[in-house]
Amino acid sequence: MFEVIYIEKQLLDHPRVLEILKKYPNSLIQKIDKVEDVFGRVKKPYLQKRTNLNLFLGEKKGQLVKLAPPAYGLSGEPHYYFVHAYNCIYECNYCYLQGYFHSPDIVLYLNHEEIALEIARVASVYHTLHPKNNIWFHAGEYSDSLALTSLSGELGHYFKLFRNLPYCNLELRTKSVNIRELLKEEPLQNIITSFSLSPAHRVKSNDLKTPPLKNRLEAIRELNANGFPIGIHFDPIIYDDQFIETYEELADQLLDFISADKIRYISLGVVRFTKEVYQKVQKNYPESDLLAQEFVRSFDNKIRYNRPMRLWMLSKVKQQLIDRGVAPERIYLCMEDTELDPMNKTHE
Ligand code: SF4
Repeated sequence: MFEVIYIEKQLLDHPRVLEILKKYPNSLIQKIDKVEDVFGRVKKPYLQKRTNLNLFLGEKKGQLVKLAPPAYGLSGEPHYYFVHAYNCIYECNYCYLQGYFHSPDIVLYLNHEEIALEIARVASVYHTLHPKNNIWFHAGEYSDSLALTSLSGELGHYFKLFRNLPYCNLELRTKSVNIRELLKEEPLQNIITSFSLSPAHRVKSNDLKTPPLKNRLEAIRELNANGFPIGIHFDPIIYDDQFIETYEELADQLLDFISADKIRYISLGVVRFTKEVYQKVQKNYPESDLLAQEFVRSFDNKIRYNRPMRLWMLSKVKQQLIDRGVAPERIYLCMEDTELDPMNKTHE
């Protein structure tokens, strides 16, 4: 899978590195000083990930925990994200990663103890000032949170950390069904695995190389049966002629696999792009029906459906969920204009 594995020199004997190398005996090994010296230095087209993917193993430096943009998660609570990986093995054709880095190569940062210490520090500072508030942390801002956990092996670090931070929540957001590493952990009520779902035909046409909807639903059922809290994202919602029927079907399918009262939250978000990502979609997927849709530049400069259209789509899907027994207070709108849903402040 990886043609070259670049390793920061201080990590050459790291137990996780040795384990990874055992899995890829045919990859070429290159010792480097710092990931940033090589990763993205020469522009590599995004779609080369189909045929040529390299792996970088390093230690994340700089700001390890960042405040998430406004309207990122459930309202009224602060949201932070931490970064332990760049890029993704999947290829969703709307993915913002195609416009973000200069390379689709995978980077795994292995200094989880350091990242965990910083999370604990940030949590403690906030908690001292606002002892009544919950704090949210999100993994996988630039990657899928579960897809490579068998390789990266970080879950144990974060379960240990969040067991001692009961006033904090951790969201692991994924389209993967790789739940093996997760099932090795004792479930914690403050670590929520959240699955992004779309109607089956949209998964096929847009979520390229990701597990099919049915398999994601099965992973949800298994995690729920084993006591792991579940969140759901219907995001990105894409309009087509079958929009109403297929989202009704998706809601029915979801609730066949998990009862409404077991879902911590469902976020809804329509497809959106920065200008740069939209240009990449035009270049990388010129045949995609995404490009036939009518978008406008909206309140935060992102490219979206116009406001009445978004309002209509989000209200439809929300009502479909409410009609099937999902409590309205568990549904929120992701990265939306707050005025679209005054009940929910919004988030990215
Ligand atoms: S799973 Fe997420 S990070 Fe990976 S390609 Fe799809 S949208 Fe991008």
